[in-house]
Amino acid sequence: MRIKVLGSAAGGGFPQWNCACRNCAGLRNGSIHAMPRTQTQLAFSPDGVVWFLLGASPDLRSQILAFPELMPPAGEPSGTPIGGVFLYSADVDSVMGLLHLREFQSFFLFATPSIQKTLQTENRVFDVLHRADPPVQWQTLSPGGRLACRFGEDPSSPPTFLCSSIALSGSYPDYLSTELRRSLPSQEAVIALRFEQSGKSFFFAPSFPEISGEWLKVAASSNVAFLDGTFWSDDELLATGRGHKTSREMGHVPLSGRDGLLAQFPSDSATRKILIHMNNTNPALDENSAEHRAVLDAGFEIAGDGMEFTL
Ligand SMILES: [Zn+2]
Repeated sequence: MRIKVLGSAAGGGFPQWNCACRNCAGLRNGSIHAMPRTQTQLAFSPDGVVWFLLGASPDLRSQILAFPELMPPAGEPSGTPIGGVFLYSADVDSVMGLLHLREFQSFFLFATPSIQKTLQTENRVFDVLHRADPPVQWQTLSPGGRLACRFGEDPSSPPTFLCSSIALSGSYPDYLSTELRRSLPSQEAVIALRFEQSGKSFFFAPSFPEISGEWLKVAASSNVAFLDGTFWSDDELLATGRGHKTSREMGHVPLSGRDGLLAQFPSDSATRKILIHMNNTNPALDENSAEHRAVLDAGFEIAGDGMEFTL
């Protein structure tokens, strides 16, 4: 399995266009040692030819153009090696990129029934995806369930890869009507995904509001885990004057503190732990900071755009 990080920042990217925090200003004027980052986007390929996207970031068009493996195949008037998109939430930052994929192209879209309903009933702009012939094909992800994905026409052949969905206790985005939000089951709002092929696996959860045994066990038994690295501390947005909510109220467990991710992830796990979805206010983005050093000392890595490896 090939895995490519096309984007590693939280919503807004790094630097964020209207942000003058220490990090964003420092990146612009060169006073901190940090890499710019586009908004979180992962791609993986089970065979080196067909690629799947995890989420669809607002930066998706430029991220596709920056990765030659996602170019249209030669010899056809149009086409794409992108076979499908797995949606893990209905947040703007994880679905907006679908609008970049609207040019009469068919592919599979994997999502929970509630995320499908959100995009299909309250956001008619996504109907542009159905103009392709055949239209985009929706596939259902059931939290707690496992989906077998098979290349080729032979239903008796072994699956090419498996995808497990794990419910996270996230909430639906603010843009949903109160009526729809009340009618949707909470376990379908935000999910973690785990992909397995030939005994190797990776886990992807760029957003979780709490640490629960259920997903932690799955993450800690995967070869690689991409984990929510959004905020360093619970009061980060308040302290930087960038917001009025804590990290947890925003749906993200902070990295630091006794109940933070760095301390809570099982220390005896052999999993390669990679932080992703880094908010531009996170002091760990500054590679000369004590927070950056603390992340590395805790055995974690920080994803950067362009990071790539094979499992
Ligand atoms: Zn900033």
